[in-house]
Formats: sequence, structure tokens, C-alpha cells
Amino acid sequence: MDSMKIKDALDRPLRDLRISVIDRCNFRCQYCMPAEIFNENFHFLPHNELLSYEEIERVAKIFASLGVEKLRLTGGEPLLRRELPVLIEKLSKIEGINDIGLTTNGVFLKRYAKELKEAGLDRVNISLDSIDDELFKQINGRNIGTKKVMEGITAAKEAGLGIKINMVVKKGLNESQILPMARYCKEEGVQLRYIEFMDVGSTNGWQMDNVVTKKEILQMLESEFELEAVEEDYFGEVAKRYRYIGTDNQVGFITSVSESFCGSCTRARLSANGSLFTCLFNGNGHDLKELLRSDMNDEDLREHLIGWWNHRKDRYSDERIEGKNQNQQKIEMSYIGG
Ligand code: SAM
Ligand code: SF4
Ligand code: SF4
Repeated sequence: MDSMKIKDALDRPLRDLRISVIDRCNFRCQYCMPAEIFNENFHFLPHNELLSYEEIERVAKIFASLGVEKLRLTGGEPLLRRELPVLIEKLSKIEGINDIGLTTNGVFLKRYAKELKEAGLDRVNISLDSIDDELFKQINGRNIGTKKVMEGITAAKEAGLGIKINMVVKKGLNESQILPMARYCKEEGVQLRYIEFMDVGSTNGWQMDNVVTKKEILQMLESEFELEAVEEDYFGEVAKRYRYIGTDNQVGFITSVSESFCGSCTRARLSANGSLFTCLFNGNGHDLKELLRSDMNDEDLREHLIGWWNHRKDRYSDERIEGKNQNQQKIEMSYIGG
């Protein structure tokens, strides 16, 4: 099949693939991997169940032939996977891929930022939910202070990586940090993205009452800053962005709970053990690893991907807003990577 026909085989665009490279993490963020569940008795994936870098590269090439232009590596904590730059270098050579990002808690960035950039990484999203050291230690459950993350931010800047900061906001936990984080990121000249606390997985005790909505956060910001809305850059852009008037600085919101965006969702997710998920809130992935480890050729693999994508009916966040019954099994954020 020629390349135009292959892309036409999809009945809606697929632009973005998130690849979880590991399910382990050095943090135990309360809203993601509560320490009482992800403890020494928890069974993480053994190494032989993780997709190899060659397998990930093969999958990414097939996705690129279907129109995927952006890849994002995530986890767990992706910088815990050995020799990640080796994977990035492979991915950066794939025809059609023009953007490679990494989502990380930033702790190991100081060590790896330069090497990652040289391997072909374009940007990093660094998670930081508080600039108050004690609160940050409490949230990450590992008594790790903000210093390491801030050093990671500096290293990423020095390496020339694009940077965004992700802050999950949970009521009763860190809403006190909304303004201090805005001040810090504005000062640093990096875009902060407030993420509404989501009901991913089944271990984080999510309740609607714990969600601080974009509207509430924006109101708080407007008590101190003058902001104007910014047009979306491309179809399917997830963040809603605002500019600090008179500057180039922006702030964004991921509004999965209060203003869902399933209609423009162009994203697929690959778990570290090779299951393909067409929605963050789906409990059942498609077993791509089994196909990869069979004698199936790339053409037939691609046909499977086309079929899975074309048959997807996912609109979980829209349905949450519509009040539909949502008792389905859901995967954990640390497994699929956000
Ligand atoms: N460990 C890396 C990190 O924290 O950046 C990458 C994986 S983490 C699962 C990816 C993103 O998901 C992070 O920005 C994290 O804050 C976010 N996240 C985790 N649990 C969440 C939840 N319940 N609601 C909203 N965002 C969440
Ligand atoms: Fe680890 Fe990231 Fe989840 Fe925090 S949000 S526990 S750093 S995977
Ligand atoms: Fe996409 Fe599922 Fe999120 Fe909707 S809920 S935007 S379909 S991942």
C-alpha cells in the first residue's frame, strides 16, 4: 500500500503515541501510586515482559506510517529504564516522527538532560506539584525535596530542551500551591500546566469533591495576573492555554474532568509490556506484544492497528460529564503513563 492510502485507512486521525517504558517509579505520589498499595508486595513487571527497544522501534515505525508524528516516553519513571538515550536515538531516526517528548518527575534529569538532548529528545514535561519543600516530600511519599527537580529543570534548560511543568491539583492537598507555582514558573520562563485530578485506575481514592477545576484555578490566577486566552495550535491540542498579557509566557490547563475533549482525541498509548490502549480509561488493552513476538509481518501488524483504531468507541471523559455508569475496570496511571 502506498503511504497516502495507508493514512486514509484510518477513519479518524492518529497523531500521537505515548509509550510507557517501565511501570516502576522512585516516587509514590499519593494521587498516582499510593504507598500503601505500591509497596514491597506489589508485583511490578519483570524485565522480560517489557518491550525491548527494538520492539518499541518497530511499533513506532508502523504508527508513523499511519500518520503519528509525535511520540512521548513516559512510565512509571522513564528515566529508571536503562540506556533510555539508546531508544530515543532509534526513535528520532524514524521517518515522519518530528517530535519526541519525555514526561518525568525530574529527579534524574540533571544527570541525563544533555545526553537525552544529544540523542534526539525535543522536550520534557517535568512534574512538580508544589514548591513548598515539606509539602512536596509529603506528596511524593519518598521524602525527596524540590531541589533535585529544580536542578533538573535548570539542566533541561541548559541542554536546550523544551520544558513544561505539570502540576496535578488535588483539593485538600496542594491548592495552596496554585499561585506560588504560577509565580515560580513565570519567573523561570517555563509554561506551567495545571492538571485536574483524574479518576485513572482504582487505587487513588478519586472523588469528584477532590477536583479543583480549571475555572476555579483561573479565578485564583486572575486575582493576581492579567491573562488572555490563546488559540489552539493544532487540532487535538489537549491543553487550553492563556498568556500573561504583555509577555510571551503562557499557562495551560488539562481539563479532562471539567471540559472533556474526547471528540478531538488523536492519541494511543502503549504500555511497557506491549498492550495498546485506545483510551486512558480503558481497562483492556490489545495484546500487541503477542503479535510482535509471533511471526507476523509489519503489513499484517498494521492491519491490526487500523482495525483497533477504527473500531474504538472510547469517550470516557465525555460520558463522565454526561453522568453515564462508569463501573468499568481501569488501568493505573503508573502503568500507562498519563
Ligand atoms: N513519572 C513521570 C512523571 O511523574 O512525570 C511520568 C509518569 S506520570 C504517570 C505522568 C503524568 O501523570 C504526571 O504529570 C503525573 O503528575 C500525572 N498524573 C498521575 N496521576 C494522575 C491523576 N490521578 N490525575 C491527573 N494526573 C495524574
Ligand atoms: Fe511516579 Fe510519576 Fe506516578 Fe509520581 S506521578 S508516582 S512520579 S509515575
Ligand atoms: Fe481520549 Fe479516552 Fe481521554 Fe476521551 S477519555 S480524551 S477518549 S483518552
